[in-house]
Amino acid sequence: MALRMRREVRPSYHWPEIQLNIWLIVVLSGSATCLGIFSWFMIVQSQMDLGVPWLFPYMVVTSALGVAFIFLVLGLITRHFLLPGILILGSFILFVLWLAGLIETSLQLYGVAGSVNDNCQNYVVDNVSRGNNINTLAWLTQNTIYTFLTQATPITTSQGIYPDSPPHILKQNRMVSDTDLKYLRRCVELARDALEAGDAPFGSVLVDVSGEIIQEDRNRTVTDGDVTLHPEFTLAKWAQANLTPDERTTATVYTSGEHCPMCAAAHANVGLGRIVYASSTAQLVKWRLDLGIEAGLVAALPINDVAPGIPVEGPAPGLDEEVRELHQIKKTKEEEHR
Ligand SMILES: [Zn+2]
Repeated sequence: MALRMRREVRPSYHWPEIQLNIWLIVVLSGSATCLGIFSWFMIVQSQMDLGVPWLFPYMVVTSALGVAFIFLVLGLITRHFLLPGILILGSFILFVLWLAGLIETSLQLYGVAGSVNDNCQNYVVDNVSRGNNINTLAWLTQNTIYTFLTQATPITTSQGIYPDSPPHILKQNRMVSDTDLKYLRRCVELARDALEAGDAPFGSVLVDVSGEIIQEDRNRTVTDGDVTLHPEFTLAKWAQANLTPDERTTATVYTSGEHCPMCAAAHANVGLGRIVYASSTAQLVKWRLDLGIEAGLVAALPINDVAPGIPVEGPAPGLDEEVRELHQIKKTKEEEHR
């Protein structure tokens, strides 16, 4: 009897069905999409041991709340108990949470500190890997993430429609560590020495398993009049003459620019280990093209196209730009001498 009384006094609201349905579908599909995307980002980050930025779990929770809220609304509708107050308050809370996530995502994407959009362009789109090797597989995955995101959750900014993409996945895709950077800086110094001496700006160091630099060299093709005097080639020959096979496999070659096919072949045949470069062959090709330098007689292949078994890492964001400047200076010097 009491129940019936309450039902009789409950006020009735007129809900605009079409608008409500559209709203439900939009919020549900948006939340479900974000839930899937950000959960996936978290899995990728964990898999790559990169750490998970707070934005990812935050967006997962926010999206999950969105989905839960829709189910709550649907439940209330079936019981004829949906009050405008619930819808307004719930929507407002979700909107605030969502807006915070959107602002942080935009900051990561286009903010001053390491914009993800720029990094995607530099380290994925501009850095195509080809051939039947693990790097190509990695590139395809990264490019898929980037392309997928450009279509999945577009954010309208003053520049138009831009992708919602993972802040930290692509920025750290190559595992160049702080220790690696120390050796790479030395390589760039050597490249600068080479340039000042009149040679091409390339420098490399050979580091043993304990982390000690055991040999280093720079390009000497002009000063010594020998076209094979690339630093990577010189280091490979030195390693063959001075190291045991075991010492060679555990040694790492750091270099300012990715090995050319000649040096990659020498590196592999001598049995040397890991390679870390500051700038890639793909970048060099692009820079030369921009500077109006004609392509050489040897194909500009990535190391793993020549030697598929060698672990390769790079480029190093920031240092690659210094290497680019060295090539720019070389070109300017050559023009002055003409
Ligand atoms: Zn070479």
